[in-house]
Amino acid sequence: MKNNNTYKGFGTTAIHAGLNEHIANAHLTPIFATSTYTFDNATQARQRFTGEDAGSIYGRFGSPSITEVENKIAALETYGFVNSSGNKVAAKGIMHSSGMGALTTLFLSTLQKGDKILSHFSLYGGTQEITNKLLPELGIEIVIADLRDLQKAEDAIKNDSTIKLLYIETPANPTLQCVDIEALVHLAKKYNLKTACDNTFATPYLQQPFKYGVDFIMHSTTKFLNGHGTAIGGILLGTDVEFMNTKATKWHRLLGANSNGFDAFLLSNGIKTLEVRMERHCHNATEVAAFLQHNNAVAIVNYHGLPTHPDYYTASKQMNHAGALMSFELKGGYQACTTFLDKLQLCTHAVSLGTTDTLLTHPASTTHYGVPTAEREQYGITDGLIRLSVGIENIQDILADLEQALYNS
Ligand code: PLP
Repeated sequence: MKNNNTYKGFGTTAIHAGLNEHIANAHLTPIFATSTYTFDNATQARQRFTGEDAGSIYGRFGSPSITEVENKIAALETYGFVNSSGNKVAAKGIMHSSGMGALTTLFLSTLQKGDKILSHFSLYGGTQEITNKLLPELGIEIVIADLRDLQKAEDAIKNDSTIKLLYIETPANPTLQCVDIEALVHLAKKYNLKTACDNTFATPYLQQPFKYGVDFIMHSTTKFLNGHGTAIGGILLGTDVEFMNTKATKWHRLLGANSNGFDAFLLSNGIKTLEVRMERHCHNATEVAAFLQHNNAVAIVNYHGLPTHPDYYTASKQMNHAGALMSFELKGGYQACTTFLDKLQLCTHAVSLGTTDTLLTHPASTTHYGVPTAEREQYGITDGLIRLSVGIENIQDILADLEQALYNS
């Protein structure tokens, strides 16, 4: 039996946390390819449903592979700090089939008709669509403010008592804007709002929102946590364990947004190398940002690891490193982006991010194709913008590929 509370290092926690027993002496938790689980007797069956017995019931509710990864991510998001009373923060995670599944459980379990969400204007496109188009059909609205300005945030909350949840994504996709987690949580608590943070871009290795009193964290585990681009997944974590075990669990189970044994197995193995991957991602990103800044074809580099970035101080305050995502604008606009992407020989032109290989996208012609030009330009998504997720290849190969593709673009 492993003791999850005694690890001194983040990397050790990533490798060992969550695994409670070697099932059938298997070194790794096997992939549970079963839809249901047997009961030894009627008392045990009842106790599984009341929660007195933690054993599995049914594949839609979870499995040992899924429990392992839920406990592993909870251990990482609470690693190395204590709350104001000096106690280790308890957190419960619920794995979902995708990041969007985790978000849906968050919104539907915490909000009801007539409630509003307060958020920043830079959010992942899917989050924007669910909050702008689907939730309003259920009577739940979103209020958008520039949350980098605390006065604007407070004015929005003061003017509307139906705002119940502060939802932030920092750094945000795709603009990489950062908001001050500690200051916003302080403000939200003053007005009794719940708080939630999408920590996908940073991962718990670079940023731990629970440290600042955030109530819920969500991840698209599809990205850096999995790290190898092998499975779609999402997790919702909360520090109100009672709420997570009751209302959030109810929504998760009845939405049918469950993960599965194979994806959980891939995720668990991916997370084990999170620390070493993130170290290399971050090192490479710093070099790439410096290279792009001095390239003649590049007009602007948006990377909050650069002191010239407007959110540099916010990012430095709450992140251990700026991470591996950046965007840059080509002087030649839309046509230059097309030429550049078609010339890449090593780096991959694909959506998604956080994989071992370097991935690039051109938002104007792909993810933001349907957004009117004036609207996306308001948020900095110009025709010449490229988003870059720096991989862990050897840096000289990444730089050589970018350089040859930028030449004459
Ligand atoms: N949050 C962020 C920041 C994302 O980038 C994404 C997907 O790209 C999501 C949430 C949604 O996650 P998924 O695609 O796993 O549903």
